[in-house]
Amino acid sequence: MTTTDTGRVKAALPTSLTPARLGRLATLVAAGARAQRVATTSPFTGAPLADLPVSTPDDVEDAFARARAAQAAWAATPVADRKRIMLRFHDLVLQRQEEALDLMQAESGKTRRDAFLEVSDIAITARYYARSARRLLSPKRRKGAIPVLTHTTELHHPKGVVTVISPWNYPLSMAAGDAIPALMAGNAVVQKPDTQTALTALWALALMREADLPADVWQMVVGRGSSIGDALMAGADYMMFTGSTASGRRIARNAGERLIGASLELGGKNAMIVLADADIEKAAVGAVAACFPSAGQLCVSIERLYVADEIHDAFVTAFVERVRAVRLGGAYDFSVDMGSLTTPSQLETVSSHVDDAVSKGATVLAGGKARPDLGPLFYEPTILAHVTPQMTLFDRETFGPVVSIYRYRSVEEAVEMANATPYGLNASVWGRNTARARKVAGRLHAGTVNVNEAFAAAWGSIDAPMGGMGDSGLGRRHGADGLLKYTEAQTVAHQRLQGFTAPRGVGHEQWTQILTRAFKTLRTLGVR
Ligand code: NAP
Repeated sequence: MTTTDTGRVKAALPTSLTPARLGRLATLVAAGARAQRVATTSPFTGAPLADLPVSTPDDVEDAFARARAAQAAWAATPVADRKRIMLRFHDLVLQRQEEALDLMQAESGKTRRDAFLEVSDIAITARYYARSARRLLSPKRRKGAIPVLTHTTELHHPKGVVTVISPWNYPLSMAAGDAIPALMAGNAVVQKPDTQTALTALWALALMREADLPADVWQMVVGRGSSIGDALMAGADYMMFTGSTASGRRIARNAGERLIGASLELGGKNAMIVLADADIEKAAVGAVAACFPSAGQLCVSIERLYVADEIHDAFVTAFVERVRAVRLGGAYDFSVDMGSLTTPSQLETVSSHVDDAVSKGATVLAGGKARPDLGPLFYEPTILAHVTPQMTLFDRETFGPVVSIYRYRSVEEAVEMANATPYGLNASVWGRNTARARKVAGRLHAGTVNVNEAFAAAWGSIDAPMGGMGDSGLGRRHGADGLLKYTEAQTVAHQRLQGFTAPRGVGHEQWTQILTRAFKTLRTLGVR
């Protein structure tokens, strides 16, 4: 392995993260004055980082009561005012991005480059929903039951109080990204960010309050799902969950029991197909970007690579070379390409998946081992060949910097292999003939497919829906769906002049004949 190491020395906490600043963020957690505390450590070094109050189920209940009381006034706040707050938040995020980059890196171990992707994502999301909410929420005229006589309008009301549960891997994107449309739709939000990355989420909360969002409209609690999960479900009018498929199923069962809506953004085992006419160099660079963002701890990153027989060997050579040149390390600047895993359990999963595959005959083409010399949770970017269905990582999500590479002989075979998991989150197709590549994209079982790009093209297309098929989830974020799911649709239909019952003096039989003639006429006139 010739990975260039930048060493431990740069990974000391940046000076912006003073105990006083971290302490101020911790005070934003909705918890009682005598709450127990929980400590986190920084993945780069294992050094202590945050000291946070732990919310109890009673604290969560209180947060919902306050949120519910505040929500009515927030829903009555004109959308133009909500928009002003959201655009102020947008500006603050960009102005103060250095603080966020430091926090995200310290809490998650990712590179500054990966952290900046989250800042960009939140800027795009805040701008989009600030500027689209009015159009999406305004009453819409719909075709009435009887043309001219029925005046029908579709309205959208906020659900009320939305629970957002967000994971640790994209602590700013996942925390603020799903709260923004819920707030723009007039809801209050009670959120549980993952404890490991709660400071980043609290930073977003602080900025939103600085932008003038009333305090109780968005609150955050900290605690384990096993302790406060029931309270978070009990208070919710809608549940937005991002995490593993196993947790998503439990949330869905409970939401079903309560008959509330839920949007579930879950795991994936994403595939990339390199077609025979692909530009090999571009595809190799694209594959590095696809497989190793945030050390592969990205729901839409690629873990399976299918390469056309004709170019397989040349592609593998180019890809391996680039992966071996990846600079691995912890640094609060832009000098490294891949950072650390975030938690010991991630390191355990990655190591055990690779060890299992190797023990069953997989070949390591690059990487393949942990790097405790760089920090406690570093693992090399890893490429495996000769992966078989007997190996755990063949079709199970690793959620780390590990990709399996396969050769295929026909596009048919590539599509079949790419679709052969229960997941369906993201995919990527590379080819010079983009019309053909797009056709292949349309055959893949995945909520988003990127042509000649890893994931950012579809993810960043905020006007279009993003989410998973199959075991990768239910519902969509982004686009109109990403906001309207946080609303109750209501149809108000006003019947004028003549209703559906027969007019006085007309018998039922005659009335049915009149209606039948009317339907035939509508059909002839091409009315929808
Ligand atoms: P996880 O075990 O499901 O946990 C995710 C978060 O949800 C944690 O903060 C967890 O808190 C909380 N949680 C789980 N069950 C809960 C419950 N019943 N009530 C309240 N909170 C609950 O997932 P993970 O392994 O940490 O995260 C990685 C997974 O997320 C991967 O599978 C990845 O693909 C997926 N992910 C998907 C997307 C997407 O957009 N599709 C995006 C990012 C990540 P506690 O640990 O404290 O219980």
